[in-house]
Formats: sequence, C-alpha cells, structure tokens
Amino acid sequence: MEDSRSLKKAEISVKQGRIVKLVSSDSFFSIFVFLGKDKSKDHILDEDSCDCKSFVFRKIYRGDGFCYHVLALKMAMEKENYRTLRASSKEVFEVLLEIHAYGKSLKLRKLLVRQ
Ligand SMILES: [Zn+2]
Repeated sequence: MEDSRSLKKAEISVKQGRIVKLVSSDSFFSIFVFLGKDKSKDHILDEDSCDCKSFVFRKIYRGDGFCYHVLALKMAMEKENYRTLRASSKEVFEVLLEIHAYGKSLKLRKLLVRQ
C-alpha cells in the first residue's frame, strides 16, 4: 500500500520536473529517468520498476508499495507532466552508464541545459 508520505513526495517531484523522458532520436526507444536533487541519486525507472534501494527492499523484498520515484512517474504519465529530451542513442547509453556507475549523470544535466 502506498503511504501518504510517499505520495506527497511523488507529487512534489512531479511539480519540480524531476521526471525526464529520454527519447532516442536515431532509434526507436525511450527511457525514463528520475532526476535526483542535490546529493540524491538519479534513477532509471519505468512504471513497474526502479533501480533504487527502496524498490529493492520495500517492493521486492517486503512486497510493500512502490518507491516514490515510480509513484511520481505514474503521476507524471497520467498528466503527461514530464520533460522530454531527444538525444542520440549513444548519448542515452552514456547517461545510463553514468547513472549505473556514479549514481548520477552529468551528461544528462548537460543535455537538459543544451535543450
Ligand atoms: Zn525508486
């Protein structure tokens, strides 16, 4: 069950524009990224899964509700309230690599500024 605290955090995240849809301009795929604030990590996610700790331990291990990142994505998709960023498949790959390796993508931030 989703607690009200997670729902509130999700709602704020959507308002802050933390959901980014990365669309590959030279291929046929897109991914969603939750943009972490300050020292928080970025997360690669879709409507059913997230790479964060809360998803692993709450959702998978305990069978509890989704992390607030996934809740934010669901809310954002409902109202199409997310940022869309077009990038080459190579750039998308680099963003994924950075998030996987460092927990945060500088490349993604650069692309968002360039947009
Ligand atoms: Zn998460």
